[in-house]
Amino acid sequence: MKWETVIGLEVHAELSTKSKIFCSCTTAYGGGPNTHVCPGCAGMPGTLPKLNRSVVEYALRLGIALNCTISKQCKFDRKHYFYPDLPNAYQISQLYAPVCRDGYLEIEINGLKKKIGIRQIHMEEDAGKLVHGAQSSFMDYNRGGVPLLEIVSQPDFRSAAEVIAYLEKLRETLLYLDVCDCKMQEGSIRADINLSVRRPGGELGVRTETKNMNSFKAITRAIEYEIDRQIEILEDGGQLFQETRRWDDEKGVSSGMRSKENAQDYRYFPDPDLLPLDIDDAWLARVKENLPELAYQKRERYMRNYRLSEDEAAVLTVHKNISNYFETIAEQSGQPAETAHLITGEIMRLMNNTNILPEDLSLDTGKLSTLIGLVCGGKINRSAYKETVEAVFTGNVDPESYIAEKGLMMVSDGGAVMEAVNAVMAENQDSVADYRAGKEKVFGFLMGQVMKKLGKAGNPDLAKKTLENALKTG
Ligand code: ADP
Ligand code: MG
Ligand code: ZN
Repeated sequence: MKWETVIGLEVHAELSTKSKIFCSCTTAYGGGPNTHVCPGCAGMPGTLPKLNRSVVEYALRLGIALNCTISKQCKFDRKHYFYPDLPNAYQISQLYAPVCRDGYLEIEINGLKKKIGIRQIHMEEDAGKLVHGAQSSFMDYNRGGVPLLEIVSQPDFRSAAEVIAYLEKLRETLLYLDVCDCKMQEGSIRADINLSVRRPGGELGVRTETKNMNSFKAITRAIEYEIDRQIEILEDGGQLFQETRRWDDEKGVSSGMRSKENAQDYRYFPDPDLLPLDIDDAWLARVKENLPELAYQKRERYMRNYRLSEDEAAVLTVHKNISNYFETIAEQSGQPAETAHLITGEIMRLMNNTNILPEDLSLDTGKLSTLIGLVCGGKINRSAYKETVEAVFTGNVDPESYIAEKGLMMVSDGGAVMEAVNAVMAENQDSVADYRAGKEKVFGFLMGQVMKKLGKAGNPDLAKKTLENALKTG
């Protein structure tokens, strides 16, 4: 291998607190331009920032989950740059004493585990958004002051696949911690990709930073493009310089934006409006105690308590919304295995067909529990069950009236079943003779004919027994 890729990530996660980090404006996404704004987050002179306690709490949750050391005292710094999206011309962030440091996140690729170092996690405010018109540009400060956590990794990644595995795991962790809604299309998580190449084992190479990536697909393409670009320049005897690049996903190319600035360029200094924040042991202990269960812990619990397979447990925990539904229905119906089967099978299939994302899924748990009860209790058969599940999913029908209306309640009337068996045997005398001559394979065919006669409401167990007896005694 001639070149080794080295990547470090800076991920920004927008927090799902109700209000902004230094004022009480809402963090809701969207809204008319500048409707989620007060004098504070609009940068009016004379206003002072007041730290939102929940933001610190969220940072602590993530820091604990990512195995970080939590700072006993953390401070806020001003990062200066002039751009209209920043009304104060500085962003309140953390440089000298971030809230968390020195953690790691373990990823797994093809069964191989690897720890990716986390250098630090810090709190900061988001900037506003520029909206460009034909003649002029407009500012919307709704997003200004929305709390962010920036998660800075060590340069530990060696491939795009590792980066994606990390982002997926980080996304899952943020979701399960209830810290961020992780809607990538709304920009709730955005990654900056720092990338360099080097001779294996050699010194770190010159890196570039591709900013604000918010789709896994685009990230993979941008990484591959940048690796090729750097190697080509170096192999041609050229030189790289540290710069910030912008990825154009439509064209599949990136272009240089500006030479990369250093911390000095931002004239960082401690924000005199905000006191250093003490995080005492009691507070930390409280957060630890109330830490929500993480996805991997859930998977282990599902396998242990419900005896689910690893695959099933993995599918059920792809999103918190799914695992919540699973747990509710499993409890209501008292049938965890059947519930797992329903969600990983029929529900996932219906979601695919109707393009419903896990975060948008809405299920009537009561109705589905009722259906599980009916199929497990032998009141309806599998095909009637499947049909009714679909009707509940798409039309939110009442399962019991639907079953009654469509005549799906299982026919367990011995007379009706006997009649069907007799008719099938009369119509298929050759097969009956084959069976009696020892060709047991034809049983399946005869059984199929009986079920066809009985329709969707047929009781397969009863039909099987009746047919077996009839073949034996006939
Ligand atoms: P800056 O202060 O300029 O943002 P940092 O030292 O904070 O730079 O690093 C930012 C990110 O870049 C980190 O995730 C780090 O791991 C990564 N990084 C630093 N040097 C390199 C390099 N030579 N190649 C790839 N990634 C790097
Ligand atoms: Mg940085
Ligand atoms: Zn405000």
